[in-house]
Order: sequence, then structure tokens, then C-alpha cells
Amino acid sequence: MSNIITITFPDASTREYESGINSLQIAESIGPRLAQDVVVSKVDGELRDLSYPIELNASIELFTGEAPEGHEVLLHSTAHLMAQAVKEIYPKAQVTIGPAIENRFYYDFDIDGTFSDKDLLRIEEKMHELANRGQIVTRKEMSRDDAITLFKKMGEHYKVEIIEDIDPGETLSAYQQSDFIDLCRGPHVPNTGEIKYFKLLNSSGAYWRGDEKNKMLQRIYGTVFSSKKSLKKYLNFLEEAKKRDHRKIGRELEIYIFDEEVGPGLPLWLPNGTIILDELEDLAKESERKAGYKRVRTPHLSKSSLYERSGHLEHYKDSMYPAMDIDGTEYYVKPMNCPHHHKIYAASPKSYRDLPVRLAEYGTCYRYEKSGQLFGLMRVRSMQMNDAHIYCTPEQFKEEFLDVCRMYLMYFEIFGIEKYMMRLSLHDPAELGKKYVDDSDLWIKTEKAVKEALDDGGFNYTEIPGEAAFYGPKIDVQVWSAIGKEFTLATNQVDFAVPGRFNLTYTNADGKDETPLCIHRAPLSTHERFVGFLIEHYAGDFPLWLAPRQVIILPVSEKVHDYGREIVNEMFEKGIRCEIDTRPEKIGAKIRQAELSKIPVMAIIGEKEVEARTISVRRRKIGDQGSIPLDDFISEILDEIKTRRHSYRKTE
Ligand SMILES: [Zn+2]
Ligand SMILES: [Zn+2]
Repeated sequence: MSNIITITFPDASTREYESGINSLQIAESIGPRLAQDVVVSKVDGELRDLSYPIELNASIELFTGEAPEGHEVLLHSTAHLMAQAVKEIYPKAQVTIGPAIENRFYYDFDIDGTFSDKDLLRIEEKMHELANRGQIVTRKEMSRDDAITLFKKMGEHYKVEIIEDIDPGETLSAYQQSDFIDLCRGPHVPNTGEIKYFKLLNSSGAYWRGDEKNKMLQRIYGTVFSSKKSLKKYLNFLEEAKKRDHRKIGRELEIYIFDEEVGPGLPLWLPNGTIILDELEDLAKESERKAGYKRVRTPHLSKSSLYERSGHLEHYKDSMYPAMDIDGTEYYVKPMNCPHHHKIYAASPKSYRDLPVRLAEYGTCYRYEKSGQLFGLMRVRSMQMNDAHIYCTPEQFKEEFLDVCRMYLMYFEIFGIEKYMMRLSLHDPAELGKKYVDDSDLWIKTEKAVKEALDDGGFNYTEIPGEAAFYGPKIDVQVWSAIGKEFTLATNQVDFAVPGRFNLTYTNADGKDETPLCIHRAPLSTHERFVGFLIEHYAGDFPLWLAPRQVIILPVSEKVHDYGREIVNEMFEKGIRCEIDTRPEKIGAKIRQAELSKIPVMAIIGEKEVEARTISVRRRKIGDQGSIPLDDFISEILDEIKTRRHSYRKTE
């Protein structure tokens, strides 16, 4: 009896084995195919190596590299394989860390010089050779002191530094394949032969521990999948994403630039980019006006006392620019608009009848991002925000919150965002008074209201305990672009602490003062990030209402220039962004140029069109639409712009 192990699989089938068995042997007993594909197991809820000995009455799950759990193990194991290959080719290289990230892994090395594309190919070749050797991967546990001795002996100074930061009492683990040993929590694939379909992607510089005061290391990114097909699909996706890179298209379409003398992370919006921003602002102003928001404007500079009261200097100082002395008083440039809006709320006494108060602003904020973190429009130091704060009673909260979420959905519809996910970050009861405002009842009540609102609205969301803001639960919205690239866009936060710090009140129906709740929301995110997202989502083919250049008139000869100019004037009067190509080029060349500039509508005119007062329409990516009377053409264009239709197509 005692040497029989009962194992329960997640599908509730139960099998019995003799003691001493491990997950790999279980997989073999089920079938050779599974044994070949399985890379990791979960034993009583914990991810374990396949060699982990199973005990009495265990519950087991087996994962192949197709499952997210298995894929991560595969990614991480391939990072080790890469480090082993690098060490074989560059024995003097120092290894540091090599985590798995979404669909990719990386490893940072301290080497002299950098890795070229040719080096990457060589490393990749070495990896195939090492993988094919079918090296057994084994786990070793050791004390912290033994680990320090081991890695010192190996001359791996970065590893020693990492271990020295770990609590002395802890037991550490390392994984070994042949004579390559790496500090690692695991689990890992049991054999390097499991690693087949991988590709090294690129390399770049990265500071040790992400700190620019430290040495610059060389990072190599790679990817791995459990089948050739999945690898190919992912590489195609990366290729498409590269073509859509907002930095590349942003330059080609003259949307924004960075200038050395202005400074890194401080974008200059060119006329084309500014048109996009203006259109987004018009959309937001229009929808916020309808939803009962009131617009305000606030200064970029404020005294330090404001940020002491708001708590920014206590919690957020690292992201703020240093104070400047003005007439003996410290001032800061604003990292957020919230404190200013609180002051506007407090400018006049409020009763419950005045609530909700919804204050909206296009505020430009300035936040410090490390230079290594700056990335195109996605991470910048100056940002324009579609910001607003809603002050309401607890009774109004749910409906107000739901309205904000509905506004998100309306925007998703307009921009053709089909896949999105809301991440609801909740408090951790064990951290009340430390990480979180110490008011258990308020947390429970507010989180319940937020969840009810999301459920009522039928929103997709996942709950993430322990990641709320200090002052209330928050919702991050992740969206996926047309090709499935993920972006974190907007944040929506509930705040029940800061209104108290600003002594914000309203008089309730019984004549007593109460503190309102505040919702911070920015559905269009920072415009920098949102435009960056839109460029990649549309691959630069903006829908007509957003396109910086909407219509171009292409005359077939000089004889029809007058008619062309007449059309331009008429469209200009009606607010359509229209221009004419009067270059002495063949019509084919003019069409090609307009296509390259991604102008959505081409209006071709010859003598036939002048006579009939028509135009011959050609839509980018759709083709010739035939001849249309001029007036019909203009009203169709106006309608498409006014309704903000997204005439984009998902695939090319
Ligand atoms: Zn590892
Ligand atoms: Zn705010």
C-alpha cells in the first residue's frame, strides 16, 4: 500500500504508480508522444522539473511547450543554452541574468565590444550543436555560502553580486548542463534536446541592473517555440511589426521628430502629427462635452507645497524634475494634473446637488524617465494627456465609473480596436496601512462597486491582487493592434485618499460635510503613446478623419489645373484637407507618389471630368472607384470624415 502513489490529473482521471516515480516517467507511461513534448509539470500546484520525485496522493499537471507554463520554461531554458554557447565561444564573457519575457528571452553579458549579426549567427549555430548533444539538465541545491564559493571559483562576478543580495539563510538552486552551471530557480527542460525551434533576434546595450551609472552590458534577445510552425508565425509577426514601427513610419510621414538640442524624450510634433493630435482632441472634447465634463486649464509650474499636500513629493519625487527657485520659493513642473483639478474643485463650496463634478483638461505633464527607458513616442519625458477627474458621492460612483468604461468602449469602436483587456488591480489586506490606505471597509466597498460596474457593463477583466495604487484600486487597459501587438494604454484610478488631503468636501442632504470620491481617467492615454499605437495599428494608413493629408487632386495635364484648383478651394472651404499635384509628371508617377505618402483619396481629373464636372476616384489600397459627380464626391468625403468611419483594412 505505502509504495503505491495515487496521482490525480486535472481532468479528474486518477492513476496509480509505484513510488519513486517522476513526471517524465508518468508522461512515458501515458504515451511516447507526450513524453517527447512535455517540458514541465505542476506538482500540487507548484511548477517542478520533470525529474522531481512524486509523493503520495499528489495532483499532477503536465505541460508541453504549447501551454503558457511550458512555453516560459522553454524560453528560459533556451536563455541558458544561449549563455552556454556564448561562454564556449567567448570564454572571458561574464554572464549576468537571462529572463523570459513575452514570447522572447534575453540574456545580458559583459564582454569586450558588441555582438554583430554575424556573431549572433555563430552563437545560434553553437546553440544547435549544444542542443543536439542532448545534454541532461540537472538541478543542484546549495547554501548561499556554497553558491558564492562556486561562482567565485568560476570567476562569475555578477552572479556573486546577485547571490550576496540574497538572505544568508536561503537555499539556492543552480542548473547544470555539461560543465555550464547557472544560478536559477527553475524549473527547466530535462534535456537540451527538447530545444529545437529557436532564433536569435537582435542585440543591444543594457546597463547592469538598468542603472546608467553601471557598466553597459550586451543583451541578446531570442525566441523559441515548440514547433516550427509556431516559430515561423511569430517571426512573420515580428517582421510585420517592424514594418509598422511607429518610429519608422513617424519619420516617413513627417509626424514627429526628436532633436538633439531640444533633448531626448521631448518630441516635436510636425504639422502632420499636430493634425492627428488636434483630431484626437476634437473627438475627446466632443465626447466629454456630451458626457457632462467641464474644461479647465492649469499652469505647468506650481509651488512645492502643492506637491507636499498631494503626496507627490513623498511618493513620486523620482519621476519629477528638480525644483527651481523662484523668488526664494521652490517650484516644480507638473508631473500630473490632479492637484490642480482638486484646487479647482475646492474653489467654490459644493453641495450633493452639484455632484458629480467632471473636470477635463489637455494638460502637458513632465515626468523623468531614465534615458535608457526612453523609446520613441511610447516612453517620453513630456506628454500631453487627455486627462479628467470626476468627483462624486459614493452612491454615484458605480454609474460614473461605468460611464468612463463605456467611453473607453466607444473609443475602441472608433479606432477599430477589437481585442482589449482590463486589468483590475486590487489591494492586499496584509499590506493595509503600509502599501495601502488603512481603511479596510472603504477598500472592500470600492472594489466591490468597481467589480459590479465592470460586471454590469459586461467587460472582460482580470483581477490582480496587491497591485492597486496607494489610494485606491486601478484599472489598466491593454489593447491589441490590428496585427496582435499588445500595448498598455489607459489607466483609470479610483481615489479615496487624496480628496481628504485636499480637504475636498460637499454638503450632503443632511447638511453635513462629506469627502467625495475621485476617479482619475485618461482613456486616450498620453497622446504620445496613443499616436504611437495608432501609427502601428493602422501601419500609417489612417482612416480619412485622422489622415493628415486626406485628398489629393491629380490632374492628367496642365489644361485641367484650373478645375483642380477650384476643387481644392471648395474642399478647403468645407474643412477637407486637400491638395493638388501640379508637377509636370505622368499620372502614373503622381499616383505612385500619393500611394507612398499614404494619402487615402486620389481624385484624378482630365478633360472629360472638366466637361462633366466629375472626378475619377481612386482609394488607396482599394483601387479605382469610377467617375463621380463632384458634389456627390464632396458630400461623401464629408460624411466619412464626420462619422469618423474607420475604412482601414486589417491585412494587406
Ligand atoms: Zn534558469
Ligand atoms: Zn489624476
